[in-house]
Amino acid sequence: MSDELTIFQKIIAGEIPGKIEYEDEHCAVLHDINPQAPIHMLVVPKKVIPRLDQSSDDDTELLGHLLQIAHTMAARCGDGEGFRIVINNGRKAGETVPHLHIHVLANRAMHWPPG
Ligand code: AMP
Repeated sequence: MSDELTIFQKIIAGEIPGKIEYEDEHCAVLHDINPQAPIHMLVVPKKVIPRLDQSSDDDTELLGHLLQIAHTMAARCGDGEGFRIVINNGRKAGETVPHLHIHVLANRAMHWPPG
């Protein structure tokens, strides 16, 4: 794995600007720079797992924590009328940043199937 920090690590470290909504020992929640909904946050583990399919059994508790934080943030920032979580795994699925993150989208109607 590269020694260089990921863009999300740089934001969490304060090296580049970003709006951090929440932070704990295990993760941070950032507002997306290019929001796809009125609320669009990213739940990012501090441990760099490039993508979900590179997580391991050791990460089970961490992954559960990320989901708990995702719905807690939706309750904090959303309108209470629903939210969507998304994980893009791999380039074909739309992944652009190789540092696992859960998108939390809220405050607009969502459609299915997704694009
Ligand atoms: P993905 O395409 O699933 O890998 O998601 C990466 C997300 O990171 C995209 O929604 C980007 O808009 C977002 N993003 C990229 N750079 C930044 C940044 N500097 N601050 C906040 N969000 C970012």
